[in-house]
Amino acid sequence: MKKVLSILGHLWMFPNTLLISLLVIPLSMLRQISYYGRSENGIIFEIKPKGWAGKLLTRFDKVGISLGHFIGIREDFLGVRVLVFHEDRHVQQQMLFGIFHLPAYVLCHGILWVYAKVTNKTDFSAYRSNPFEVDARRYAGRRALNK
Ligand SMILES: [Zn+2]
Repeated sequence: MKKVLSILGHLWMFPNTLLISLLVIPLSMLRQISYYGRSENGIIFEIKPKGWAGKLLTRFDKVGISLGHFIGIREDFLGVRVLVFHEDRHVQQQMLFGIFHLPAYVLCHGILWVYAKVTNKTDFSAYRSNPFEVDARRYAGRRALNK
């Protein structure tokens, strides 16, 4: 049953993967990223830190990203297992939410951002408080501790 659900999840999120392929293929051809390996559910690409894709990621204070089945991790953070678990959890979230994952993620972020502004909470991070991020951090922590 778990295998069937996994296959359905991969199919359900396939439009995300197809769409992001339009970005991954040219980035790969331009050697901004390169194939690194597989995670449990995704395909890992290393992002060159000095390339513009790496600089863009760094500009947003990020070292990893998941879009569709593609997990991009900045080359100098590839050894951080917990980061791979975190990004793989985002892939699992997409297997559950399919094409609705990105809109739901952005909506949560927007609501939390407005909440922080309206309530004047300067120490509040809409990114860190996003339920998708909270879930991914918890999952990665459990996996790192083998729980
Ligand atoms: Zn995340």
